[in-house]
Amino acid sequence: MADGVFVTAINCMDGRVQEPVIAWMKRHFEADYVDMITEPGPDKVMTAGPPEGLDSVKRRVAISVNVHGSRVVAMVVHHDCAGFPVSKEQHLAVLRACIGIIETWDLPVRVLGLWVGEDWEVEVVSDSQRDSRPPT
Ligand SMILES: [Zn+2]
Repeated sequence: MADGVFVTAINCMDGRVQEPVIAWMKRHFEADYVDMITEPGPDKVMTAGPPEGLDSVKRRVAISVNVHGSRVVAMVVHHDCAGFPVSKEQHLAVLRACIGIIETWDLPVRVLGLWVGEDWEVEVVSDSQRDSRPPT
């Protein structure tokens, strides 16, 4: 395992969403590093692109989890996405599909769905820990 706390984000390659997501992930998970897996419109790449695109994302997530020891994977979609120019509602619907895909990978991770809106602030759309585990 690498030194330090790593978390993982599947994010767009858009320069506007890098720093907000990194800062949010570091703050919420007391992480030292955020492994950033980027694609133009990652939600589209994972659900509507050629299978190689999804395989490539999966392979990179596995490195982050298995080698860096990440225990959190955030799937990020955002406003004004050039790689996947659809409405917020469509992004959020496809985000749910992506989370379903990530959950089939059976990784020992908490899975979050994040939306970055016009103000470039990060909003939590779903959280596997909050949504599926009973309160302790
Ligand atoms: Zn984008």
